[in-house]
Amino acid sequence: MSEIKDYKLFINGEWVNSKTGKSENIYNPSNEEVVGTVPIGDASDAERALNAAEKAHKSWKKMPARARAELMRAFATEIRANKDRLAQLLVREQGKIFSLAQGEVEVTATFIEYACDWARQIEGDIVPSDNPGEQIWIQKISRGVVVAITAWNFPLALAGRKIGPALVAGNTVVLKPTPEAPLTTLEICDLAKKAGIPNGVLNMVTGGVEVGQTLVEHPITKMVTMTGSTPTGQAIFKSAAKNLTHVQLELGGKAPCIIFEDADIDTAVQGALHTRFDNCGQVCTCNERMYVHEDIYDVFMEKFMEKVKLLKVGDPMDPETDVGPKFNRAGVEHLEKLVAESVEEGATILCGGGRPGGPEFEKGHWFEPTILGDVTQDMKIVHEEIFGPVLPVIKFKSFNQVIGFANDSEYGLAAMVFTNDMNRIMRLINELEFGEIYVNRGHGEQHQGFHNGYKLSGSGGEDGKYGFDQYLEKKTFYIKFKD
Ligand code: NAD
Repeated sequence: MSEIKDYKLFINGEWVNSKTGKSENIYNPSNEEVVGTVPIGDASDAERALNAAEKAHKSWKKMPARARAELMRAFATEIRANKDRLAQLLVREQGKIFSLAQGEVEVTATFIEYACDWARQIEGDIVPSDNPGEQIWIQKISRGVVVAITAWNFPLALAGRKIGPALVAGNTVVLKPTPEAPLTTLEICDLAKKAGIPNGVLNMVTGGVEVGQTLVEHPITKMVTMTGSTPTGQAIFKSAAKNLTHVQLELGGKAPCIIFEDADIDTAVQGALHTRFDNCGQVCTCNERMYVHEDIYDVFMEKFMEKVKLLKVGDPMDPETDVGPKFNRAGVEHLEKLVAESVEEGATILCGGGRPGGPEFEKGHWFEPTILGDVTQDMKIVHEEIFGPVLPVIKFKSFNQVIGFANDSEYGLAAMVFTNDMNRIMRLINELEFGEIYVNRGHGEQHQGFHNGYKLSGSGGEDGKYGFDQYLEKKTFYIKFKD
């Protein structure tokens, strides 16, 4: 029996109680046992954290960026040194398989380290003026207090992705972790303190919409960076409009995975497989709808189905397991509904289709790897985010047809294509309406890229130089001098 810990809010470098005195349980998706408890914060808790962050900003912004980065590197080192402990907790609260959880802790550290590399490149511009005896200086400075709001699918990595650039750029942060899996994120507060991050620079407040909305609407907040669903992103966009606060949103996706007739079949099978079933299908860039050219459909599907049937569903701590549980009950019910509606619309279940049988699956939120054939572009499952181990497959005839299908979506985050024809690759890059396109490989962005959703998938983008720049405000000086 693992320890059940009661967590608190982390404000101004201290663990403090919520004013509400209320708390909620965090459950293990594998067996529905309680993993820990967290306070249900309210508006006054959010305000306390904002005040602490605002106060801390006064000195943190004055510290040379290189000195901030040194502290942040120490923070990343602490996170890495605690990899297995954090990964075990992440498995217990989120349900992902242990190797993926270890990878998530590692990537949290590298998100922070990557941001540190930018510390000496916060450079402005000196621009010639149209007036004689004048220069225009554009300086990049921190924005102030950044509010970070995260989703449950990669709670720790999403926190690192935001905390890293925000703090290196000289901002202070109030983070509201996902209410359903906040524990691993809360754990890193002690590591930040141990690394020497000053009090008030990083604060965390748990809670739901009340905390989130207060943080977003508050005049102290100078930027909001949020990862989550599109409807929540839209609500945040509206709330932030009150003070015209800068907003960066990373939202839902519906990535097409297109397999052309000249693709290397084994590479495509592997790419399509892992991009659907990683993290039990709960990744914003997952293969959410697969288009296979009619000339290779049978050959490809035979190999693909063979691999799908070998996927082992089960205990996420078992090294043999490929697919853990879905995160919550609502997610399983959503999949059941989508599969049933697809069958009603004419789809065929090629494998899976529901909850797996057996005593080990009585508790927890399980769903079998499921492939749907005879799917058509007009079906609901081709347009709604699935966010689970269910994949609709469509046969296509031509380049133009499949480009039309792929772009026929309200989302525009990621797309994957498998082909060796260079001319076709160039046309795809031009014509696909997605911010992130993978050619001949499955998903998985790198820190130096730019994770940027088009359409209802987001606004602003994260990572790389463009992502880092979001955390910087610009100030222009017109300097007149006697020539
Ligand atoms: P969600 O939208 O339900 O919640 C996200 C966060 O927003 C939570 O912390 C929640 O408490 C908070 N929130 C809810 N209402 C709020 C409000 N009115 N004001 C302020 N905060 C509020 O999302 P989720 O279910 O946790 O995550 C799943 C979604 O996240 C999926 O759609 C997935 O595609 C998306 N996602 C996107 C990316 C990306 O990079 N584009 C990455 C991971 C997940």
